Amino acid sequence: MVRHSSRIELSQSSLTKNINFIRKKIGPGVRISSVVKANAYGHGIHQFVKMAEKAGVDHFAAASAFEAEEVLEARSAGSDIMIMGILYKEDIDWAISNGIEFYVFNYERLPYVLERAQALGIPAKVHIEVETGANRTGMQASEFPDTLKFLKKHAKDIHFKGLCTHFGGAESFSNQFKITSQHERYKEFLKQCEKRKMLPEIRHIACSAAALAYKDTVYDMVRMGVSQYGFWPSPDIYYLHMQEQGGRNNVSPLKRIFTWKTDVMDVRDVRAGEFIGYGTAYQATQDMRVAVLPLGYSNGYPRGQSNRGYVLIKGKKAPVVGLINMNLFMVDVSHIPDVEVGEEVVLVGKQKNNTINISSFTQVTQLMNNEMLSRLPAAIPRKIVK
Ligand SMILES: *Cc1c(COP(=O)(O)O)cnc(C)c1O
Repeated sequence: MVRHSSRIELSQSSLTKNINFIRKKIGPGVRISSVVKANAYGHGIHQFVKMAEKAGVDHFAAASAFEAEEVLEARSAGSDIMIMGILYKEDIDWAISNGIEFYVFNYERLPYVLERAQALGIPAKVHIEVETGANRTGMQASEFPDTLKFLKKHAKDIHFKGLCTHFGGAESFSNQFKITSQHERYKEFLKQCEKRKMLPEIRHIACSAAALAYKDTVYDMVRMGVSQYGFWPSPDIYYLHMQEQGGRNNVSPLKRIFTWKTDVMDVRDVRAGEFIGYGTAYQATQDMRVAVLPLGYSNGYPRGQSNRGYVLIKGKKAPVVGLINMNLFMVDVSHIPDVEVGEEVVLVGKQKNNTINISSFTQVTQLMNNEMLSRLPAAIPRKIVK
């Protein structure tokens, strides 16, 4: 197989540290659902599922049946899979047959799920997502009594796996009033379950930010996305954690697991006054040495880094010169001696004593961490390292 123009390395030890930290935070007896939507936030579903299982995770949450299928291919037998988002009617048979749990947020869906579960002779595993104030998906309170009745009547064919909701903005403390009110509404739904003696197997409402900042939102399971990848959901959540530490230890317990690398494709000298790359975006003000790198915006390297970003070569920062092209860009290596073709280049991550964080891209390109990560092409090979 020929080589790709860049590669991503994923650190197993960092992921294990993150999962252990999350476990400590949420306490014993709470299950972690590893959220692997968007190709595991760009990390690569296939590799990430294997790594998470190694760290003891046995529940995965995907946004679609398409992603769930990728998890199904990567997981080992013991792990459960849950679809939080789109599941087309045509794929319900597939989900039931494969024991995949899925969200239901409309009453109308239940009779169809029942019909299919009975036809297949396999119980469906359903999480009822309820509307509490985010107004994305979520069942309205008005449909809930009938839903509980239906689930009670057909408990043999439809397993009431979970009762869940999602917070709209738990990462920001200015939303606290909203989070509190969403949680209160969730408790109303729970009360109804208790009244009708129709309890879900698992209650789960917390994402990373809620699980780390609002302990009372941690029920039987938490759905952890961004934090398991080593990112704090926001500065608010990070500083809260630091405060809880009493300032004793200011090293972040969350570790980035992702390093993105390529190598130098060519090295050339450019005379003062010459332009580099397309147009006149960069003009050499003195004689300089430039390294050509074999990737560009079509490979997930944001065009907004043109003339602004930098990469690491021999542990030193090499600034981007000129525009990021579709599949090439150039960096200034005049100050780095002996750069040769094939030299390792770090685009994101650590090299010697320097680090490039995804968040530095955010500063330059206005791309959120999650957005930048989730745009990384699935075609870039991902490799698990120690
Ligand atoms: C994305 C998502 C999560 C995970 O959110 P993080 O903030 O990344 O932890 C949890 N629940 C639902 C429904 C989601 O869509």
